[in-house]
Amino acid sequence: MELVTGAGGFIGGHLTRFLLSKGLHVKAIDVKPLGHWYQNFEEADNLVLDLRSAQSAEFAVNRVKRVWNLAADMGGMGFISNNKTACMMSVLINTNLLHAASKSDVESFYFSSSACVYPDYRQEDPNLVPLAESDAYPAQPEDGYGWEKLFSERMCRHYREDYGLRTFVGRYHNVYGPFGTFDGGREKAPAAICRKVATAKIEGQSEIEIWGDGEQTRSFMYIDDCIRGTHDLVESNFYNPLNIGSAEIVTINQLVSIIEEIAGIKLKRKYDLSAPQGVRGRASDNTLFRSLFGWEPSTPLKEGIESTYKWIYDELAKVS
Ligand code: NAD
Repeated sequence: MELVTGAGGFIGGHLTRFLLSKGLHVKAIDVKPLGHWYQNFEEADNLVLDLRSAQSAEFAVNRVKRVWNLAADMGGMGFISNNKTACMMSVLINTNLLHAASKSDVESFYFSSSACVYPDYRQEDPNLVPLAESDAYPAQPEDGYGWEKLFSERMCRHYREDYGLRTFVGRYHNVYGPFGTFDGGREKAPAAICRKVATAKIEGQSEIEIWGDGEQTRSFMYIDDCIRGTHDLVESNFYNPLNIGSAEIVTINQLVSIIEEIAGIKLKRKYDLSAPQGVRGRASDNTLFRSLFGWEPSTPLKEGIESTYKWIYDELAKVS
């Protein structure tokens, strides 16, 4: 049996769908009430559990062959800048699950890490050099969220070396797509901008607020690439942390233009220079990923944003 934690969230929901489509039996767990899951599937064993508890983690891994650990208390820059304790507390989920898995029949353990483990000092220039896996050290990750991810990456290594648990670590770079958070304060840039543009369209507004000056650079990975990359990693024999991200670099201003074009609207841009904006420039170096799997996440941003925008627009239109 496959265990997906954080199954009520964005990536966990898509991963559950993917594993079920392969005919696998999935135990899907999240702390949120079932009615709040982005996707849930009758064929899965759906459970509501708080995995910060050691007993819940032990219960969760029972009869499980592979753990796909996506549960975390997280969100976009707005959330992780202002909720560092909550982000750090995800360490309980990760350590409890690793410990429970090491004492059970679990064969492999996947941990969803993040590009936030990379040091700030390598991300100060919008004319960036893409981040390679070895750039994570000397460590100076994102305060709170990034430190927790880096610590849990290391716990994965120690459980592998000391207990023989096959652990895999994917460092996701900005994942986007339908069935994810787009409001409430935890949303990330692509979903937030889709929401702002769709709201302007529905309510006839003419302005959009952008965090920072819009010249910060990023790469964004479409959810289908994320799921395929995650699956390829877990099917491999590669145990060191691996970037799972897109190498297509855009500024936030370019992202806004792409979304405006899809929506068929042009908005006046108002820049909020006091809002949290994260590092100045960040993208994924996919050299290692390509050498392992012979492909890389490359769904064009325009294509992925099209289905994301449509889903968010439809969700907003339902309630307006
Ligand atoms: P998400 O917030 O949509 O999903 C995470 C889920 O974990 C939520 O549904 C939440 O309710 C659940 N959860 C939180 N605390 C829990 C607990 N104590 N017990 C059980 N479940 C709990 O986030 P996502 O975008 O799907 O991210 C999934 C994973 O990937 C996370 O570990 C995240 O840090 C990592 N990640 C995501 C991105 C991205 O761009 N989305 C980038 C880097 C890393």
